Amino acid sequence: METTPSHTQVVEGWAARDSSGKITPYVFKRRENGVDDVTIKVLFCGMCHTDLHYIKDDWGITMYPVVPGHEITGVITKVGSNVSNFKVGDRVGVGCLAASCLDCEYCKDSEENYCDQVQFTYNGIFWDGSITYGGYSEMLVANQRFVVHVPDNLPLDSTAPLLCAGITVFSPMKHHGMLVAGKKLGVVGLGGLGHVAVKFGKAFGLHVTVISTSPTKEQEARDHLGADNFIFSKDGKQMKDASRSLDYIIDTVSAKHSLGPILELLKVNGKLVLVGAPDKPVDLPSFPLIFGKRVVSGSMIGGMKETQEMLELCGKHNITCDIELIKPNCINEALERLARNDVRYRFVIDINAIKCSL
Ligand code: NAP
Ligand code: ZN
Repeated sequence: METTPSHTQVVEGWAARDSSGKITPYVFKRRENGVDDVTIKVLFCGMCHTDLHYIKDDWGITMYPVVPGHEITGVITKVGSNVSNFKVGDRVGVGCLAASCLDCEYCKDSEENYCDQVQFTYNGIFWDGSITYGGYSEMLVANQRFVVHVPDNLPLDSTAPLLCAGITVFSPMKHHGMLVAGKKLGVVGLGGLGHVAVKFGKAFGLHVTVISTSPTKEQEARDHLGADNFIFSKDGKQMKDASRSLDYIIDTVSAKHSLGPILELLKVNGKLVLVGAPDKPVDLPSFPLIFGKRVVSGSMIGGMKETQEMLELCGKHNITCDIELIKPNCINEALERLARNDVRYRFVIDINAIKCSL
């Protein structure tokens, strides 16, 4: 798509040009800072598995070149004349959302993420017709509605993944009333999303069981993340022994799998929330559903009010992500490791390290 005339700001970033999955430096243009916009010097950007899905065109919707990144933290360098909630120098975050209609019932309830005109931080089409580019870049112009404050006590690097991974697990936990001490929570897939779900669970006093395909993650899950139990999901006996033991499950798995054996872990009336987004449909056999009157639900990120609330709670409970900080010239290596499930538990790009390492 042609760049629109008001897009005059030259920005350095990193983009994938095709589904080969390679990221290379990419210079592009962003819009001028409008009256409702803030300009952000991007300092850190988490690498969500969704970035990998887009880079590889797993979902068949990628518009190349794609500049990924929707776990963004940085500092405000400019504010528009209508902006009162932010000032230059503020530490802020931007997640997956770039625009929504602001007028429908969902926007009015700050569930902007469910607006049918929602546009995402990258691979979206903004109102002026331009394609949105994400946080694998040195600077971002964002509408004030889609920016949040980062509490003072939270470091910007390990906070960045909360902008997607954090809110994605927090929102359904809150919505389904899971944040109740003593309840039993299962977290399927111990990756970026999963490890934050474990942290939220522990912060709210739940009994947390990790259900994982990686036995090598057990010790760290227990000792470091504080998980109370760990089930190796390929071990039929471990799965059987845990049947009907959980009140809630959050499934964060990025690849096709069956929900059948996982549903068996739920008590009668138990709820499973699917947040992982494999490119192929997951298997949903009917018997484990009907024999336990169980519920399967889905959830996509969270609204802006809730994102701010989640960050405040993280500030209060000192919840941040376990990250591996990388330089921009290591993005490709990090993507390869993310694809083979070799990260504890989120890569975060130190955007400014780029300058000196190029
Ligand atoms: P991630 O860090 O790669 O973690 C995914 C985890 O899934 C892995 O650590 C692994 O955990 C497990 N896994 C991977 N391949 C598997 C397989 N073949 N079978 C079973 N388990 C497997 O990814 P993430 O960033 O947390 O994202 C997870 C998924 O959520 C992605 O599909 C992403 O697009 C999606 N997502 C959705 C939303 C939303 O709004 N709903 C938001 C963000 C991301 P173990 O080693 O413990 O098995
Ligand atoms: Zn994400």
